[in-house]
Amino acid sequence: MANEQYNFQELIAHCKEYGYIFQSSEIYDGLAAVYDYGQNGAQLKKNIRDYWWKSMTQLHDNIVGIDAAIFMHPTTWKASGHVDNFSDPMIDNKDSKKRYRVDHLIEGHADILKAQGPEGEKSAAVLIAEMEGLDAKGDFAGLRELIDRYKIVCPISKTGNWTDVRQFNLMFKTEFGAVSSDNPDDNIVYLRPETAQGIFVNFLNVQKTGRMKIPFGIAQTGKAFRNEIVARQFIFRMREFEQMEMQYFIRPGSQMEWYNYWKETRKQWHESLGIPADKLRFHNHIKLAHYADAALDIEFEFPFGWKELEGIHSRTDFDLGNHEKFSKKKIQYFDNDINPETGKPYGNYVPYVVETSVGLDRLVLTILSLSYAEEKWTKEDGSEDSRVVLRIPAKIAPTKLAVLPLTKKDGLPEIAEELVKECRAHFHCFYEEKDTIGKRYRRMDAIGTPFCVTIDHQTKDDGTVTIRHRDTMTQERVALKDVKDIILKAIA
Ligand code: ATP
Repeated sequence: MANEQYNFQELIAHCKEYGYIFQSSEIYDGLAAVYDYGQNGAQLKKNIRDYWWKSMTQLHDNIVGIDAAIFMHPTTWKASGHVDNFSDPMIDNKDSKKRYRVDHLIEGHADILKAQGPEGEKSAAVLIAEMEGLDAKGDFAGLRELIDRYKIVCPISKTGNWTDVRQFNLMFKTEFGAVSSDNPDDNIVYLRPETAQGIFVNFLNVQKTGRMKIPFGIAQTGKAFRNEIVARQFIFRMREFEQMEMQYFIRPGSQMEWYNYWKETRKQWHESLGIPADKLRFHNHIKLAHYADAALDIEFEFPFGWKELEGIHSRTDFDLGNHEKFSKKKIQYFDNDINPETGKPYGNYVPYVVETSVGLDRLVLTILSLSYAEEKWTKEDGSEDSRVVLRIPAKIAPTKLAVLPLTKKDGLPEIAEELVKECRAHFHCFYEEKDTIGKRYRRMDAIGTPFCVTIDHQTKDDGTVTIRHRDTMTQERVALKDVKDIILKAIA
């Protein structure tokens, strides 16, 4: 059976056709880089979120979850550095009037060079290294000179008629309440660009009420908003997206130990979700964010190349320390464990933090792009057959079981409905009696349902049913009374 190499556009079309992902406000021609999840997409996303939440909060004694508001006091974003630093260098093309993130523009050119063969690959590597060096120094004139030297042109106008490189803040602003004030800035709030700050400002609330002892973590999932300059590649880069973040509070000085621990633990977690190890790699940051003393990305090989899936950041005491400064409230932890070097308690300190931050939408895209397959094969009678299948791991598939009576009569629907009734409290089931059984199987393949059970006339005689496995298309006869347990075992 051959899995044909697929075109990314086909995956996008499939997501729409089978109720996974729609362009937002499509009837009004859409809103750029904003997407809606349909009935299957929302369930897949929820299953992945739940899997993350359970692995963080239920499987770790010392990690708890919270749900902070999206709106936060505006000083939060002063303290976090986002008002001053959360910006990307960007450049405009004067002919097409298009704006680009400088790193994306240069990376795009590097991809063109790479496609030209081994020599091109070498110059692409030099170009990227030069860009990273200039970016790390914040040398905008140097970045502009690099764009000129490599004769990088706008993909739309095809000209190199560029503006200077400038900074562009990515936070969305909005007005809060109806307070009238002489200073219009008094009413401004931001849509949070990351969920992490909701955890930092609640550090003491959680530590005290949960009687948490360092090291401990606070986890959170939720929406984040960034006014991305160039938002593309479907749900990979959106202006409204969802993050799953965990801040791990530790003793100062132990950060490298925990950084390495979480780096490995998170990679293993992705593998446990069914992502092959050879599709994941680490990428260490050269340019560190304003808050970090070490940072790396866990990258996945998307259909459009290796890209960031999750960030692991050693954030030092930057955030808690700054919130302490800006709020003028003490945010410290008293550690009464004995320091073996001094023989005395560690005492009061502002904890250090190691963060794990993964994009839920990027994980959905990861799973969909791994699962999607167009298959063709020759049947025993020599004829050709084909299907499109989503091989989503059973434990996160939106629907686990389709229950299909062979015909609409002879009491078969009643038996099928009984089975659905028995199973639906435990996992998502789907009942369907329309169309031939072959067509129904194909629809379930396209949606990614791992198991179909067919109720036929033999069921009435001997209490057995046919269970069909999506990935192998094999069918076997099992006892009707065992179906629920078979599925429960497969999705555990
Ligand atoms: P990128 O370099 O791709 O812009 P980032 O380094 O700014 O990402 P972080 O601030 O580390 O991203 O955010 C943590 C995670 O949130 C990322 O690894 C990614 O999975 C997700 N994420 C960030 N921005 C977006 C976005 N615009 N759309 C979807 N997911 C995003």
